[in-house]
Amino acid sequence: MSEDLRDLVRREFEAAYGTEAAGIWSSPGRANLIGEHTDYNEGFVLPFGIDRRTFAAVGLRDDARIRVGSTFSDEIAEIALAELHPDAVSGWSAYPLGVVWALGRLGHADLQAVPGVDIMLESDVPVGAGLSSSAAIEGAVAFALDELWRLGLDRVELARVGRTAENDFVGAPTGIMDQMASLLGRDDAAVFIDCRTEEARAIDLRLAENDLTILVIDTQVEHQHASGGYRERRASCEAGAAALGVASLRDVTLADLERAREVLDDVTFRRVRHVVTENQRVLDTVAALAEDGPRAIGELLDASHRSMRDDFEISVPELDLAVETAQSSGAIGARMTGGGFGGSAIALVPRGLVSHVQVAVDGAFAEHGYAQPVTFMVTPSEGARRE
Ligand code: ADP
Ligand code: MG
Repeated sequence: MSEDLRDLVRREFEAAYGTEAAGIWSSPGRANLIGEHTDYNEGFVLPFGIDRRTFAAVGLRDDARIRVGSTFSDEIAEIALAELHPDAVSGWSAYPLGVVWALGRLGHADLQAVPGVDIMLESDVPVGAGLSSSAAIEGAVAFALDELWRLGLDRVELARVGRTAENDFVGAPTGIMDQMASLLGRDDAAVFIDCRTEEARAIDLRLAENDLTILVIDTQVEHQHASGGYRERRASCEAGAAALGVASLRDVTLADLERAREVLDDVTFRRVRHVVTENQRVLDTVAALAEDGPRAIGELLDASHRSMRDDFEISVPELDLAVETAQSSGAIGARMTGGGFGGSAIALVPRGLVSHVQVAVDGAFAEHGYAQPVTFMVTPSEGARRE
C-alpha cells in the first residue's frame, strides 16, 4: 500500500506542478496505547506511530510562493510566504501551511529569506477516526522542510512546530502527544512522553514476539460533542487543580485523592480521579512492559476504559460495546482511545483470535442496531522519515 502511495504522490506532484519533486517524506498517524486526557494536565501518555502514513512530495521553487495540493481535494492552495497568517487560510490547507508559518513563528526559519516550495500530499491515514491524520501531515511537512531548508531541527522541535501549527494556525487546542508520536515512533515500540518536560523515550512493545496485535475498532460514531466536551473536561481539570492549590493535576498523587473528595464537588472529583489514576496506569504500563511484556498490560487497558466511561464520562454506548465484546471474545485488554464521544477503541489481541474478535464485534453491533464498525490491525511503526 505504502509503496503505491509513494509512486502516486510523485506522479501527482508532476501532474500538478510540471516538475519533479526534490524528494518524498512521510510521517505516520498514531494510536494511543494508554494515557487519555493526561497530556494537557502535564501528565504521561504512551502513544505509538502506526503503519498508515501521510506522504509529502516537496520541491523548492525559485520565488517566495508556496503551493500545496492533496488528493483530498481538487483545489491547489497558493499563497506568498510573506502573506501566511492564521486568518488568511482555512480548510485542510491550514495544516501544511500552518507548519510553514510555525517554522517562522518559532524563529526556526526566516520566511523572508527561504525559497518557496510546492507540496503534494497523499495519505492512507483515515481522517477523523482518532488516528491523527492531522499530525501525520504536520510531521511529513515539517520533516521535509527541515531538510530542504537545512534547518537542523531535532524531532522534538519539529513536534513543537506541528503543535504550534495546530494550536495557533488551525486553531485546535491540542497537546503535544500526536506530533511526538508521529515524529518519534519506532518499529514495535511506543513513545513514552512526559508532557510536563516534553521528554520522550521509546518503550519496546514486543508484540510480534508475543504473538499479539492491536486491533482498531472504528465505531464510525462522529465526535458529535467532541470539541465542546473536550473544552468542558479541560475546564474541569483546571478547576480541580485550582481548588486543590496545584499548578496542574500532574501534581496530585493517588494519596491526595482522599482530600480531593472532601474539597471538590462529585463531578470535578471524578474528573480529577480519572487523570490521577490514568497517569499511574501509564507508569504501570511502562513498568509492566519492561518486566513482564505486553501480555501483562491487559488489566491496565481495561481499567483505563472503565475510568473514562465512569469517571471522565467521555465514552459512548458503541465504544463500550466494542470494548466489552473484544474483552469477552479473547482480547487481552481493550479501551476507547482518543478524545472520546465517538471514534475508535483499541484491543490487544492474540493473532490467532483476530477474526474471532472482529466477527464478534460485528455481530454485537448488528444485534444492537448500530452501523457496522470498521476494524483493522495496526502495527507500531517508525516515525517521520525521508522515503
Ligand atoms: P484527526 O483525528 O484525523 O487528526 P483532525 O480533525 O485533527 O482529525 O484532522 C483532520 C483534518 O486534517 C481533515 O479535516 C483535513 O482538513 C486534514 N487532512 C487530513 N488528511 C488530509 C490529507 N490527506 N490531505 C489534506 N488534508 C488532510
Ligand atoms: Mg488531529
